[in-house]
Order: sequence, then C-alpha cells, then structure tokens
Amino acid sequence: MAGIVINHLYKKYGKDKHAVVHDFHLDIRDKEFLVFVGPSGCGKSTTLRMIAGLEDVSEGEIYIGEKLVNNLPPKDRDIAMVFQNYALYPNLTVYENIAFGLRLRKLPKHEIDLAVKRAARVLEIEPFLERKPKHLSGGQRQRVALGRAIVRNPQVFLMDEPLSNLDAKLRVQMRTEIIKLHKQLGVTFIYVTHDQVEAMTMGDRIVVMKDGKIQQVDTPDMIYRYP
Ligand code: ADP
Ligand code: ADP
Repeated sequence: MAGIVINHLYKKYGKDKHAVVHDFHLDIRDKEFLVFVGPSGCGKSTTLRMIAGLEDVSEGEIYIGEKLVNNLPPKDRDIAMVFQNYALYPNLTVYENIAFGLRLRKLPKHEIDLAVKRAARVLEIEPFLERKPKHLSGGQRQRVALGRAIVRNPQVFLMDEPLSNLDAKLRVQMRTEIIKLHKQLGVTFIYVTHDQVEAMTMGDRIVVMKDGKIQQVDTPDMIYRYP
C-alpha cells in the first residue's frame, strides 16, 4: 500500500517571502495515475521533487504509505523518478545503466540479472542491452530511463515531463506505453506535464495548478466538462 498524503505543503526559496508551492493539500490514492498540470513555473516540479526528497519541505508533511518522509533521503522513500533528460550514464551499456542502482545496493548478481532482464522484457529493450545510450533512438533512451526506475520495484513512480524531448509522434506512442506500464505494474504514478492533452489522456485524476496553488482536482471528464 502506497497512497500518499500531503498536508498543507509549502516551499519557499531562501529569504523570499513568496511561496512557490502554497498550501498544497491532497490525498493520493494507492495505484492511481495522478497528473499535475499547469503552466511553466506554477510549482509542479517543486512539488514532485519534495515528494521525491530532492527538495526540502518548508512547511507541511508528506506521508508515503503512512510513513512520514519529510526527513528521509530519496533512497529511503518507496519511489523511483524518471526525468525528461533521461539521466543515463553515457559510458555504460543499457544493461549496466539499468543494473546500476541495484549494484550500488550490493544485491546478488543473479538477482540483479533477473531484475534487469525482467525490466528489459516489460519495456521491449532486450535487443539493445549491450548498446551504449549514444547508439539508441530517443524513444529507446526513454525506455531505458523507465527501466532504471522499474528495476527498483518502487510502489510510487514520479515522472517529470518524461516525454518532452521526444518528437510529436513518438510522444503519442510513449503516452500509450506509459499508461500500459501503469496497469502492468499496479503502482502509484505521479506524472508532471504542462501539456493539457497529455494530462487528459493519461490521468485517472488531474491536479490543475496555478501560481503554486491547486486550482482543481478531478477526473479528466469532469475537468473537461467544467473547466
Ligand atoms: P513548474 O514545474 O510548474 O514549471 P517549478 O516547480 O519548476 O515549476 O518552479 C516553481 C517556481 O519556483 C518558479 O517560479 C521557479 O522560478 C521557482 N524555483 C524553482 N527552483 C528554484 C530555486 N532553486 N531557487 C529559486 N526559485 C526556484
Ligand atoms: P561475472 O563477473 O561472474 O562474469 P557478470 O556480472 O559479468 O558476472 O555476469 C553475471 C550475469 O549477469 C551473466 O550471466 C549475464 O547473464 C548477466 N550480465 C552481466 N553483465 C551483463 C551485460 N552487460 N549484458 C548482459 N548480461 C549481463
């Protein structure tokens, strides 16, 4: 079980009085596909990064699966994050990129091997395991980035504009694949985008943000009907 409870969350940078995230308050259900949408600068990434533990919380609480995580580092939260710039290691093969985190955790080699191959199968990148990232297409790189997240077996997947570097056609294709991945894994997804169509097609629920605040939280058809 990994629902997430966010209580009156604020983020202020430095001595600036203005909160870039202002009283963000939300229950995220276990296994739901939640999308944060809103214009650039409205605080989507900052909120996601606080959930991930990549950014300190100024005020408020974040619970992941009933555990208060405010002071836990990312590795002690039950999460994996996928970024828009892939963050792959250029000198490692696809296999090594996916295995990297598990090797750091000193898992036995055969377990690592099983986990990497399982992730590669799910994402259909088995033929590329020996390649370096520079020999992959954009879509293949994005799958490797997803593979690095899956392999950790997290209960929560955090994605920050993961498709924004892809061309329009591939973006549409990867949307479908990410929806499929969510169904297959049966875990909680939080997906950040500034693209309304992406939000409408992907989310079970959508959080519309503006100027650091939640404007609306609802299913796509309710938001579409009563914008
Ligand atoms: P979004 O993801 O919706 O585009 P962000 O969460 O990245 O928005 O940014 C929200 C606001 O916080 C923006 O005004 C941005 O300029 C500001 N901000 C983000 N990171 C920092 C930082 N490290 N220092 C100061 N301000 C920041
Ligand atoms: P050893 O040092 O015992 O050779 P490795 O880590 O090289 O151990 O390999 C253990 C298993 O992990 C191999 O049988 C192989 O299936 C898999 N493996 C390791 N590295 C790779 C790789 N780069 N590509 C594909 N499979 C690999």
